Amino acid sequence: MIDFSLSEEHTSLIEMARRFTKERITPIAAECDRDSRFPMDVFKEAWEIGLINPTCPAEYGGSGMGELENALITEELAYGCTGIQTSMLANGLALTPIKLAGSEEQKKKYLGMLTAEPILASYATTEPDAGSDVAGLKTKFTQHGDDYVLNGQKCWITNASYARFYVVFATADTALRHKGIAAFIVDRDSPGLRVGKKEDKLGQRASDTAQIFLDDVKVPKENLLAPAGKGFKLAMETFNQTRPDIGAGATGLMRRALDECVAYAKERKTFGTAIGNHQLVQWMLAEMAIRAEGTRLLYQKAAWNLDRGVRDPIISSFAKAYGADSAMATAVDAVQVFGGNGYVKEYPVEKLMRDAKVLQIYEGTSQIQRIVIAKQLLSG
Ligand SMILES: Cc1cc2nc3c(=O)[nH]c(=O)nc-3n(C[C@H](O)[C@H](O)[C@H](O)COP(=O)(O)OP(=O)(O)OC[C@H]3O[C@@H](n4cnc5c(N)ncnc54)[C@H](O)[C@@H]3O)c2cc1C
Repeated sequence: MIDFSLSEEHTSLIEMARRFTKERITPIAAECDRDSRFPMDVFKEAWEIGLINPTCPAEYGGSGMGELENALITEELAYGCTGIQTSMLANGLALTPIKLAGSEEQKKKYLGMLTAEPILASYATTEPDAGSDVAGLKTKFTQHGDDYVLNGQKCWITNASYARFYVVFATADTALRHKGIAAFIVDRDSPGLRVGKKEDKLGQRASDTAQIFLDDVKVPKENLLAPAGKGFKLAMETFNQTRPDIGAGATGLMRRALDECVAYAKERKTFGTAIGNHQLVQWMLAEMAIRAEGTRLLYQKAAWNLDRGVRDPIISSFAKAYGADSAMATAVDAVQVFGGNGYVKEYPVEKLMRDAKVLQIYEGTSQIQRIVIAKQLLSG
């Protein structure tokens, strides 16, 4: 039997995350955006009440929640600010490959670190010449005795400035493409690892994004997460598990846009009546609501599948692609509903428009999602 209702546990989790967002994120979002500042104090508070690393299994000190609960938290935090939400929940990108492929010792050490104290970790595939084309990455690893040495450069890495460790993808030989790629857990304090400049971004400015340079970085053999030939698959499986969260973040952003627009449409008058009485404005509001609810259904189905162990990457890509494109369209409409006031920083919707854009870029662009979807359709 199909049942769309959420359990009591889900409802109280949503209420807790919603209260936290209202009290701790929404009030500082504009300031963090202006100053390009990640609010570490708020991250620590969120960690204290269990909103960070929710999918970390109980045996490693986590709460062992599922992907659905993770996505429900994401939607709530994103309502306040998708920049803060992205950075707060980016640990999920680093812990997922460790959960999927890590040895018992790696899980104990690194998942244990995430649950022992409020720290951040990053996931690094992207390089200056390899974004969409993950198989084209050039960061090289060589074996030295039992250990490995990494050389290369990563860019656009969320939380790179703060991360205590990184999951880094590197190749044995660029000619091998996906067959040469391995994954490593690299400690922040490894000699030869340097964090580069922090990006000055269009949107999601509260989220830290920076480069990493790896110059003869020695990685002990016990930190090999996936050997050559298995790393690419691990990167793709990680995205399969984390893409529904982009849909969830998009839903939070759209809900915020809709709430702001409904309130404004009741207040603002033109031609002697509230703009909410004009059918062309009503049409925009209705479209926003359809997109938000459509994305919510997609991300919840994708997360529900993952929690039941059903592997269905096409739904993860639906949630990511439809959610990101819907959020962008909704945020553009929100600026339109506000008219001139939508175009200035005194009102919250211009930030939503800037923040929404990156949803169509990170974790596989909207074009790449279409490619993933079409490949699966054509392969039957
Ligand atoms: C704020 C931010 C945070 C990020 N965080 C992380 C992170 O934590 N870790 C990490 O590893 N990466 C991260 N990224 C990187 C992100 O995943 C890449 O930017 C993204 O995958 C796109 O790669 P690219 O920028 O090199 O664009 P390119 O791959 O150069 O693409 C440029 C354009 O060409 C299109 N395109 C490319 N190939 C094709 C094709 N075959 N068919 C059709 N169109 C195509 C793309 O869709 C895009 O429109 C982040 C990026 C940003 C902006």
